[in-house]
Amino acid sequence: MDDKLKEFLKNLPKIDEILILLEKDGVSGEFPRNVVVGTSRSLVGEMRDAIVASKGKTPRLLSTQKAAEEVKKRLLKLREFSLKKVVNATGIILHTNLGRAPLSERAIERIVAVSRGYSNLEFNLEKGKRGIRYDHVRKILCSISGAEDAVIVNNNAAAVLLVLNTLSKEKEAIVSRGELIEIGGEFRIPEVMEKSGAILREVGTTNRTHLSDYENAIDTTTGLILKVHTSNFRTVGFTEEIGLSELVKIGNKKGIPVVNDLGSGCFVALEKYGFEPEPTVQEALATGVDVVTFSGDKLLGGPQAGIILGRKKALEAIEKNPLNRALRIDKLTLAALEATVQEYLNIDGAINNIRSLRALTEQQGDVKKRAEKLLSLVEKIAPEGFSFNLKEGMSLAGGGSLPTQEIPTVLLAVNSERISSGRLEKKLRLLEVPIISRIYEDEILFDLRTIDEDEFGLIEAGLKSLSEDI
Ligand SMILES: *Cc1c(COP(=O)(O)O)cnc(C)c1O
Repeated sequence: MDDKLKEFLKNLPKIDEILILLEKDGVSGEFPRNVVVGTSRSLVGEMRDAIVASKGKTPRLLSTQKAAEEVKKRLLKLREFSLKKVVNATGIILHTNLGRAPLSERAIERIVAVSRGYSNLEFNLEKGKRGIRYDHVRKILCSISGAEDAVIVNNNAAAVLLVLNTLSKEKEAIVSRGELIEIGGEFRIPEVMEKSGAILREVGTTNRTHLSDYENAIDTTTGLILKVHTSNFRTVGFTEEIGLSELVKIGNKKGIPVVNDLGSGCFVALEKYGFEPEPTVQEALATGVDVVTFSGDKLLGGPQAGIILGRKKALEAIEKNPLNRALRIDKLTLAALEATVQEYLNIDGAINNIRSLRALTEQQGDVKKRAEKLLSLVEKIAPEGFSFNLKEGMSLAGGGSLPTQEIPTVLLAVNSERISSGRLEKKLRLLEVPIISRIYEDEILFDLRTIDEDEFGLIEAGLKSLSEDI
């Protein structure tokens, strides 16, 4: 180690001296001693790493005083919430990074009501003995979808894992090459299959898979046929895909269960609202398929969950699988899911009360009215040098749902003479209630399709605080 490096390391602030300053300040009394010491140690550790990495060039070092201030900042930050509300101005309705579906009012009320005290989560009130958590949603899910039985787990990835593990462990799961997809966040169908213990048997090619490909693959080692809804991309051109009902026919003939991972399962036929037809959960089940799985927080518009519907025989085995104990849904989610599914007893009500469905189906004219209202509000409080105007554009469903289908929308374009759009985007993102926007052609855009009127106040307050800041 050269002398300069040694010299720098010798001059690092001493933990004890930082602690004395923090004590004088009074802040160390507000936190457990190990937290104060640990935070100081990690700051000094970072500085040591920076010195070593600087390889003798002058590193940026903090004085003991500045180091104590930094530790104090970090300590106070521990009390702030990290997970918080943001305004989604991106126009991506089911934005996986922004928490996918916002919950309906009723779903939120149910979470509060059920979690504040005790609940009958696993207690059968009529019989006065142990009950089953899935029973709270089993009946309603079955009556809406036409399924014989239902099991709910943590998310759809867990649902696929559990179904494959139950029905195809150490057996072949036949799946078309065109459906071996990756879903954001590193969920790859082949990898989940491997973890489940199922043996992947790929058939067909990327763009074309024939009925005979499936038939020829079936033998004594077959556990199931899996059909994955390629919900986040489309193959176009010279393609062939075998429909679910044909697979069910083969499955029935050979006595092999057929499973459909629907991804973004929806109870509402969205073609009424101008979308290309997507199979609904009811349609998938009507083919006689043994098992359907889908997410709770994609098009359904509820909490994160994996919903497994289908035939009693398969579902009973799935429910009894010990792996289910590790993947089961918790009471808060169950409370929100029950309320969400109840909305579908009245489709118009569901479209109205479930924000993601409302955003998907709202007429552009109504989005425009909201945009005009926001425009007049922000013009009144506009920081100096800012200008606003409305534009037409396109929103996306997101969450791997309805790919390639753009939804006409209205955008509020924000321009500033005083700050670049890149810096403005960051400042908006770091507001007390962050506004997540997009930049297009060097302009900040707020997509009104994903902004509710009750969030206008937050945008006003955010822009106001910016004007003090730039
Ligand atoms: C989204 C998706 C999943 C994963 O669902 P999560 O609820 O995010 O775990 C699995 N399969 C398909 C086809 C999907 O679209």
